Amino acid sequence: AAKRLSGKTILITGASSGIGRSTALEFARTSPQSLRLILTARREDALRELRDQIREEVGGGVEVLPVKLDVSDADAVRGFVGNLPEEWRDINVLVNNAGLVRGVDRAPEIKEDDINVMFSTNVTGLINMTQAILPIFLKRPNGGQGDIINISSIAGREPYPGGSIYCASKAAVKSFTDSLRKELIASRVRVISVDPGQVETEFSVVRFYGDKSKADAVYAGCTPLTPDDIAEVIVFTASRPENVVVADSLIFPNHQA
Ligand code: NDP
Repeated sequence: AAKRLSGKTILITGASSGIGRSTALEFARTSPQSLRLILTARREDALRELRDQIREEVGGGVEVLPVKLDVSDADAVRGFVGNLPEEWRDINVLVNNAGLVRGVDRAPEIKEDDINVMFSTNVTGLINMTQAILPIFLKRPNGGQGDIINISSIAGREPYPGGSIYCASKAAVKSFTDSLRKELIASRVRVISVDPGQVETEFSVVRFYGDKSKADAVYAGCTPLTPDDIAEVIVFTASRPENVVVADSLIFPNHQA
């Protein structure tokens, strides 16, 4: 895996916490000799802390570029790609991970702001990033080369009450991913879906508008996945031989079976 990742440039959205953060660390640990990581999210301080942690753990073989970026802002996404320093432009892997859930309301009561923020981040944000990065992949010889790894969710496959907008947004991610894979069938661009079940991160804190005790109650009495469990699958997927596409991974804790 280290050999196949060596020298690559990996871009991760939502790298300031949870699955995105663990994925950055897992890439760095897997290919410590030579890797470039572009880490994006809205919380720049957390990205800088992560850069320092990676430097401390694996040394200078992994270069890290932290960038403040809101994926739902299409102009900002275009500007970010246009302004990348020359040596950071040759991106090989895009991990579209930024996403969130907000609220547990039934459909008639869902707040307009929650609907907008979930769709503009989970769906439009992911499409913004894909449209911005794909041209870099398609410029490569033989129809193009690169990996787009989209984080959907078990919620995109198994909708539940009180999650209608979030579930719909993740079903949209899944459908977009499958369409894109078919559009790019003649290229060497791999379009991949990673669908986690319950993972303990800041996800539930965001769902309950910052109420940590409500978030903790979600995990009481069960053993959720850790973000590392998902990070390992993402890095495994990105480090397969070029002709091997791990198109779809569904990973859940056994209480969710
Ligand atoms: P976290 O809340 O820990 O992480 C979410 C990340 O997304 C943060 O880094 C956050 O950074 C970033 N983010 C949110 N909105 C934006 C935005 N507009 N622009 C850029 N970055 C943004 O949750 P998880 O790690 O659990 O979530 C990661 C992905 O995994 C999400 O897509 C989620 O839907 C999916 N998932 C999670 C599951 C779970 O049980 N935890 C289950 C299935 C899927 P910042 O706030 O700094 O911008």
